[in-house]
Amino acid sequence: MKGLYFDGEKAVYREDLPIPVCGEGQSLIKILLADICSTDREILKGYRPDFRGIMGHEFVGRVVESPDPSLVGKTVVGELNEGCGKCIYCRTRREKHCLSRKVIGMSKDGCFAEYMTLATHLIHVVPEGLPPEQAVFTEPLAAALEITKQVHIDPALNAAVIGDGRLAYMIAQVLALTGIDLTVIGKHPEKLQMFEPFAKTALLPDYQDRSLSAEECFEYVAEASGHESGIHLALHIVRKMGTIILKSTYAGSANIDLSQIPVNEITVVGSRCGPFEPALKLLKEGKVSFPDVELYNLKDYEKAFSSHAFKSGFSFLKEYIH
Ligand SMILES: [Zn+2]
Ligand SMILES: [Zn+2]
Repeated sequence: MKGLYFDGEKAVYREDLPIPVCGEGQSLIKILLADICSTDREILKGYRPDFRGIMGHEFVGRVVESPDPSLVGKTVVGELNEGCGKCIYCRTRREKHCLSRKVIGMSKDGCFAEYMTLATHLIHVVPEGLPPEQAVFTEPLAAALEITKQVHIDPALNAAVIGDGRLAYMIAQVLALTGIDLTVIGKHPEKLQMFEPFAKTALLPDYQDRSLSAEECFEYVAEASGHESGIHLALHIVRKMGTIILKSTYAGSANIDLSQIPVNEITVVGSRCGPFEPALKLLKEGKVSFPDVELYNLKDYEKAFSSHAFKSGFSFLKEYIH
């Protein structure tokens, strides 16, 4: 089969990959659409140096083979983290933190290929009427929803999102649903425009390098810029006793002054993957929406990776290539 393989240094397009065989409890999925996530770009920069295999974790597919016969033929999305099922993390609903977990596209073959296997319990059926081009946003939207699981958001207060990219867009849409006074702070005026229907927008210099009044600061700050500078800005704009939610995963380390955290009694929350079912529901009901994905053939992966579209990805169906 065709697939995009990470050889430890770069992505390689191959046509000689074997169709994967289901292990115990796994289902075989034929991939329809797969999106590139910034994590995939980070992998190419060295985020997962030990990984060798097929890249990608955001997909919509159709179940071909499954121990659960009701899933066969269904259009589905799937969670990334396949735990051992036995350890304390797996037994206490923290499978995504299992020490021996396999993560699709990061430590186990992913979805930038014609077929992929996945643990059946990680599969979610796409509701009827939700087109694959929107369903493919389930995983990143679920990651944004995770914030509402972790942090009690008082909608009478205010919140900021740092970043104007895809993840920031998901987070901002989710926070906007609470009705909170929301500001998105970014670098690119043209990207910030997209946020204007549901948030205030500001450019970085409006907040950077000047002292801010308590009123100007924010109770909740979600950092989704993907850069170290975003963490510095988060510490600068968060109110005393406020909450910073760290969403970016990137290769590299940040040099930050930790003393502000105890002195100002800041809560810092790390936040990763989230719940799929509510994400599917929001998409299906049109409570959130995203621009069309720019789709490519897998062999044009270089173009797809260097695209500046809101989201780019791969289609395994001719009719979806724009
Ligand atoms: Zn992702
Ligand atoms: Zn486990």
